[in-house]
Amino acid sequence: MAPLLEVAELRVTYEGGVDAVRGIAFELDRGDTLAIVGESGAGKSTLAHSIMGLVQPPQASGSILLDGHELLGADERMLRSLRWSTVAIAMQGAPFNPVATVGDQIAEPLREHSVMSGSDAAHRAAELAEEVALAPALLERHPHELSGGERRRAMLAMTLALDPRLVILDEPVAGLDPETKAALLERMAAITERRGLALLVISHDLPAAARLAARSMVIYAGEVMEAGATAAVIECPAHPYAWALVNAYPVMTTTKDLRPIRGRPPDPRAVPRGCPFHPRCTQAEDVCGDRHPELAASRGRAVACHFGGLKELLRVTGVSKAYRRGGRSVQALEDASISVSEGEAVGLVGASGSGKSTLARIITGHLAADAGEILLEGAPLPRSWKRGARAVRRRIQLVMQDPWDALSPRLTVAELVREPLEIEPLEAGDDAAARVGEMLEAVGLPPTGAFLDTRAHELSGGQLQRIALARALVTRPKLLVADEPTSMLDPSEQARLLVILRERQAEMGLGLVLVSHDVAVVRKVTDRVVVLDGGRTVEDVRTEAFSASTASPAGRRLLAAASAFSPNSAGSAVEPEEDGG
Ligand code: SF4
Repeated sequence: MAPLLEVAELRVTYEGGVDAVRGIAFELDRGDTLAIVGESGAGKSTLAHSIMGLVQPPQASGSILLDGHELLGADERMLRSLRWSTVAIAMQGAPFNPVATVGDQIAEPLREHSVMSGSDAAHRAAELAEEVALAPALLERHPHELSGGERRRAMLAMTLALDPRLVILDEPVAGLDPETKAALLERMAAITERRGLALLVISHDLPAAARLAARSMVIYAGEVMEAGATAAVIECPAHPYAWALVNAYPVMTTTKDLRPIRGRPPDPRAVPRGCPFHPRCTQAEDVCGDRHPELAASRGRAVACHFGGLKELLRVTGVSKAYRRGGRSVQALEDASISVSEGEAVGLVGASGSGKSTLARIITGHLAADAGEILLEGAPLPRSWKRGARAVRRRIQLVMQDPWDALSPRLTVAELVREPLEIEPLEAGDDAAARVGEMLEAVGLPPTGAFLDTRAHELSGGQLQRIALARALVTRPKLLVADEPTSMLDPSEQARLLVILRERQAEMGLGLVLVSHDVAVVRKVTDRVVVLDGGRTVEDVRTEAFSASTASPAGRRLLAAASAFSPNSAGSAVEPEEDGG
């Protein structure tokens, strides 16, 4: 049997060459729930209006089959027979009649589109009000006497009046307070399930979309970037745009900073050729500007990306390392694993001697592993620093805990930042001095003038650590391993450095492994947490799930110790630990 709604190759171009929807296709059947999410101007509302038959050729092309009827090109009589009874929309900010009572307005579609008498319509309006949890007394009031939440319930009652099989909710809870929003979402979800509705939710509110829809579709510049089960798309996005969109959304379960999406959405009159997201994508390659990526199966959902979505920058599997100490072999790492994707920040945490610093040094090639595999951008990390291998290895950089140890006091600022560039000749047209200035500016230090000639010993710890960061970034790495980078800094300098790191991530798509025993910092900065205990990886979890009830005992101990040391804690018996790993 054909699905209730079948959208194929839908294109909408408004006057002036505004490409609002560019080749969207999907199906929806009774009981299916789909959220369409994306930034403002992505084409969400145009899509909804098209499904209501409000956008017609020549602006729209393709096909929209609703219950077997083609909406594009259908006459107004046909469209009227389908609206309300087959498809109905609860529009954001839809105007109410200010002089009619709410009850009259809920009954209006019943009177106009069915043969119901006035009293039957009023009776049915009262039932609908009960269904959407609108107090009966409010039916006698006028719209301006209702709160925002009550107006949404009234709108929902109107939408449901003629028992439509497909309901479109356009920004159903935008602008409501959290309590009202939660109650309304609960009610909408219950109604959807009880009536077996096909539901299309148009929203930029990701949690609201996730609450109502089992499937989600992320659109950008009028195209689908990613589509699949909501649990995958919203909680673990694969497409770089979907990932950026999710990261830009505040989540109550984590204290992590918000990360705006770099750049701006394209002008719909001049959408870039190739992948429309390529000017904003940190992992774009030449092919992205030349060739349009098709939606294809990747990681259990459909993704429109030439690389199947976010690239994996680092995969470390089964790494082991033993040291000789006092004639004895001490196992520092045993079957340790970690992975990092484009733009992702992963916190590597563990108690003293857990092996986190050893792992950091192995990943960055400063120490050889006894066993295991390290893949950098899909290829084995070269074991040598020979010519050819150097360029690959420079894609990973290490920032050490103590900048006084890492930086020569004899060198000037300019020399310190330029030094990594001297190992390999720069590409034609690349200027070392310009790169040095660019990196100093990126870490918030003066890029020109006398500061460049200052020697390391004349600088503060915070300035030195920022220079160490500029020095690591000057080779344009893809992965940065920062080993307790803020532990020697005062809180103000620590905050400054962490903000700089987040900015560089957003700009460069830099992968970050943040080695730290400071769980508060890790929770603030990272997307995922990997816990090491006795040299083994005992937990790999999304940061918002790294809480007091986290899976591993080692993780719970770290969190308990961190809470005991929080400024609000009344002291603690837990001693801070030095990492000897
Ligand atoms: Fe688009 Fe290329 Fe980025 Fe994939 S990598 S999202 S194809 S720009």
